[in-house]
Amino acid sequence: MTETILVKEDFLAFITCPSCCLVKEQDVAHFMGVKSRVRIRCRCSCGHIFHVQLERRQFARKEVSLPVVCKVKARGYKLSGTVTDLSQSGLRVRLTTAVPLEVGMRVDLAFQLDDRDQSFIEKFGTIRSISELEVGLVFDTTQHYGKLGLYIEFH
Ligand SMILES: [Zn+2]
Repeated sequence: MTETILVKEDFLAFITCPSCCLVKEQDVAHFMGVKSRVRIRCRCSCGHIFHVQLERRQFARKEVSLPVVCKVKARGYKLSGTVTDLSQSGLRVRLTTAVPLEVGMRVDLAFQLDDRDQSFIEKFGTIRSISELEVGLVFDTTQHYGKLGLYIEFH
């Protein structure tokens, strides 16, 4: 029986060793990648080896098609693409050209919503997954106010 652990948006998981009950806080971002559920092997300091299933807490994802400009300061890139889905926790961007990016890079995002006011949004994100032209990013916070918050919740 594999225990399922819900992973919060900050990608921290509390994993309890079934043998000695030691709780370890672990950053599991690199396991999660693009998948929302993954089974991992853990090795406790007591020597016990066990498996747990990680499951990302799901936020409602909205499929969208919004032009976006991504600035990657670390590389001096200014990339254009399309936001293909959007949620409280982050978004997915399909870039128009493939460039070398790395997980963990900070990205400055600027995009326009297709709401009534064509609201212009600027946000920071961190790259959590890369698959060819598709880049998954997480926002710094999952609390969005103003136009973006309204859009995610009600649009
Ligand atoms: Zn243990």
